[in-house]
Amino acid sequence: MRCHACRGPANVEIRRSRTAYCARCYPAWFRTQVQERIDHERMFRRDQGILVAVSGGKDSLALWHALTELGYRADGMYIRLGIGDYSQRSQAKSEAFASERGLTLHQVDLKEAQGFAVPDLLDTRSGKPCAACGTVKRYHFNKVAADLGYEVVATGHNLDDEAATLFGNVMHWNVDYLGRQGPVLASTHPKLVRKVKPLYRLSERETAAYAIIERLDYILEECPMAKGAKSLAYKGMLNALEEEQPGAKYGFLVGFLKQGRHAVPGGDFDQATDLRECTRCGQPTTGELCAYCKMADRGRKKSASKAAKYAR
Ligand code: SF4
Ligand SMILES: [Zn+2]
Ligand SMILES: [Zn+2]
Repeated sequence: MRCHACRGPANVEIRRSRTAYCARCYPAWFRTQVQERIDHERMFRRDQGILVAVSGGKDSLALWHALTELGYRADGMYIRLGIGDYSQRSQAKSEAFASERGLTLHQVDLKEAQGFAVPDLLDTRSGKPCAACGTVKRYHFNKVAADLGYEVVATGHNLDDEAATLFGNVMHWNVDYLGRQGPVLASTHPKLVRKVKPLYRLSERETAAYAIIERLDYILEECPMAKGAKSLAYKGMLNALEEEQPGAKYGFLVGFLKQGRHAVPGGDFDQATDLRECTRCGQPTTGELCAYCKMADRGRKKSASKAAKYAR
């Protein structure tokens, strides 16, 4: 195949659009896709401060890299989740990325600041901490962004992540989640920062190709807690379908966003929600105590009982 831009030999094939690019032209194509989504979805403007949620993986580092190359004012934030060696290695990759480019990386150390780590949050039914870990990440990214005056939090969710989430929400008919799934989550409270996903139409393969061609040093291994997660099974199924029908994942997600979402109750993002401030931490919530504060209590208890066990 020939490069769609320069007609030289191509290195990266985009099967769903039957095009391909050489390694020299590919990064510009990728960044154009990102820019086009930012503009089309009105994610943010050039004069706004963006906080990128950084994990040390290819998606978040590719996003941070693309945004700074496109001239945006984007700082990073990393949460030390306390997942053994994996966390240490991903922290080192995130710090190296920032320092090599002179970028600002904020950090929160969960254990130090909150008295628990993600492995203290295992769900009794699934045996996994992922649902709670998601709450931890959303809470701290939002809080740091709001406290430091960033106008938007950008995450590296790609097409594969979003299609797998959609698949899971359809499988379980999680109508509430379906109504809220999209590339932009508007702010409905002064302490809730706008959330955006500029890579949501780019596949994992396309993001990996960008990270490799741009020589980004990211953590290759998956979080050890991800093993056996439902989302990985959904991704596997969607990849098998994609092999047979190039563009299936894209059609599934983009078709839903264009046509399905508005048919779901609550599918209008900008609706006002009845939010008040958590009596303990002051963050927006629907109840008296926010989900994070309740979960953090459980985590601290678990962490304390583990420490007592080792002390015996
Ligand atoms: S796999 Fe689960 S525990 Fe690991 S970072 Fe992701 S959500 Fe958190
Ligand atoms: Zn080319
Ligand atoms: Zn709270």
